[in-house]
Amino acid sequence: MSKRKRFWNNNRFRLMLTLELAVMLPAAALIYFNFRHLESIEHDKVLEATINRDFQEMLAISEKKINEKAYGMTEKVSEDFPSPDTGTEADKVAKLDLILENNPWLARVFLFDPKKGLLLRSQPEQMDDKYFREEHMYVSTLYAGWLGMESKMMCAEMRKKKRPVLWYGGPTKRGSNQVYMTTAFFLLPHVERERNVVGGATFDPNYLKHSFFPKIMHDLITYKLTEERGNPLAMTVFPAEYDGMHEEKMLASSEGWKEGKPEVTRNLDDVFRGLTLGIKFQGTSVDALGRRWMQQSFLILGVLSLLLVGGLVLTYRTLSKEMALAKLKSDFVSNVSHELRTPLSLIRLYAETLELGRITAQEKIEDYYRIIRKESERLTALINNILDFSRIEAGRKEYEFRETDIAELVRNTLDCYRDQIQQQGFAFEQHIDPAVPAVNVDREAIARSLVNLVNNALKYSANDKFLGVKLYRSNSDVKLEVIDRGIGIARSEHSKIFEKFYRAGDPLVHNTKGSGLGLSLVRHIAHAHGGEVEVESAPGKGSKFTLSLPLAAVQHPLNGAASGAGA
Ligand code: ADP
Repeated sequence: MSKRKRFWNNNRFRLMLTLELAVMLPAAALIYFNFRHLESIEHDKVLEATINRDFQEMLAISEKKINEKAYGMTEKVSEDFPSPDTGTEADKVAKLDLILENNPWLARVFLFDPKKGLLLRSQPEQMDDKYFREEHMYVSTLYAGWLGMESKMMCAEMRKKKRPVLWYGGPTKRGSNQVYMTTAFFLLPHVERERNVVGGATFDPNYLKHSFFPKIMHDLITYKLTEERGNPLAMTVFPAEYDGMHEEKMLASSEGWKEGKPEVTRNLDDVFRGLTLGIKFQGTSVDALGRRWMQQSFLILGVLSLLLVGGLVLTYRTLSKEMALAKLKSDFVSNVSHELRTPLSLIRLYAETLELGRITAQEKIEDYYRIIRKESERLTALINNILDFSRIEAGRKEYEFRETDIAELVRNTLDCYRDQIQQQGFAFEQHIDPAVPAVNVDREAIARSLVNLVNNALKYSANDKFLGVKLYRSNSDVKLEVIDRGIGIARSEHSKIFEKFYRAGDPLVHNTKGSGLGLSLVRHIAHAHGGEVEVESAPGKGSKFTLSLPLAAVQHPLNGAASGAGA
């Protein structure tokens, strides 16, 4: 296989590349473009512009509705107007007065016939007011002269309109207040249009200020709020020559206006020419809203990005772990095959040699038998480990807890190994406190833990060959220590060595046969007894493994998959 092919076939590399190209890259791009997009929204003030457009639309609709209402009221009144041709002048006056009575929102009404002149009536109960009375006198003369000259032209202009009404509005005084008044000039519906007869109605300025505008603005705002929800709006109307900043100059404002400048204004035309309509949010400004929205968006995007990155890191770690485990498993298979093959071939070799009967020296024969026994013991230990491991993995490992004299158990187990230990040139020290009380344990499991720990001490010792085993009571625990002066274990690997299949990276370890299962089994057994296994070790300084078993050993329900073999 070429080098390049091997590179591609490398599973780890392929998976990482897929993760990076298919997940990380799009995620990073997504986050980046979203941030850029938000920035551009902020920079171009897109949100503010959208709100302003919405406000403009709202003002246009509002003007339409305001005009519609004024036209509707005027047209209704025009229907009640007396005909210029029927009845006496007193009849007409009575009819005009009736209109005023029925429509208290009118300040005055008038009828102009080019042949008969002007008939003008003002709201009688307001005639007590000095300004009103003066106004009445003034407009009487003004309209009589003006209509006398202009009625023909006005009628011609009205005839061109879909709704034949002309509006003249402007400021006027009521008491010490500056108010706004508008007057409608219209063609009467039941009079021939060519006769240039003009009807007229003046909206009472107090009515406009206190009732007409507040009510219609309230309706508009409520309608908008129920239609679209969102922030409640506030509206105001003021003379066009002001900027909408002066509370005292406002003609009328909706509830919730409080103070401040309108965000968007619209100069009214037609019915209320000379007035300006303004709009804003209640209690907040477009700027503040835009800023808050941006902050929220950045925050949400930030949190989402963090979650995404967190998810990716987790995926990456899980994947790395899985891949490392896969590698450990494949190493395990080759280690175990190797470990099985070596003792088997030794056993076969020595058994065949003995079978041939050529060896006569009794001492040698005994040597061969011992090797065969030793190798088969090794084989048994390995197979036991693998079987235990597979039971644990399948969740079928069961422990048989029995009251046990643990000192005797340890002594007996070590006795079987004494020869082997000494033959390998180890100095062996054993301190077993005979006073250690009986403990409720699974004999076989504890013996197997000890064998695993002793075997490791033998396997991982180089020049300084020493093995120490201690058994003693410490408070409510029984402690079993296995000490060596071997190659030791780096701190960073202390927790990993108890994981299944794990073997330390030290080259010395890799020259030694092993499956990476021993310590994971020891830990599982310790946990099953409600105990723990710990290591103290430093490279080159040797190791001390301590198995602690609680005296009041609970028969731990934990078995098999509950803790996994050191997973
Ligand atoms: P194995 O010995 O089959 O590799 P274990 O689970 O028994 O598996 O041990 C895991 C690893 O822990 C070993 O590969 C070795 O690196 C390290 N280890 C265990 N015991 C010792 C020891 N006494 N001294 C040094 N290293 C040890």
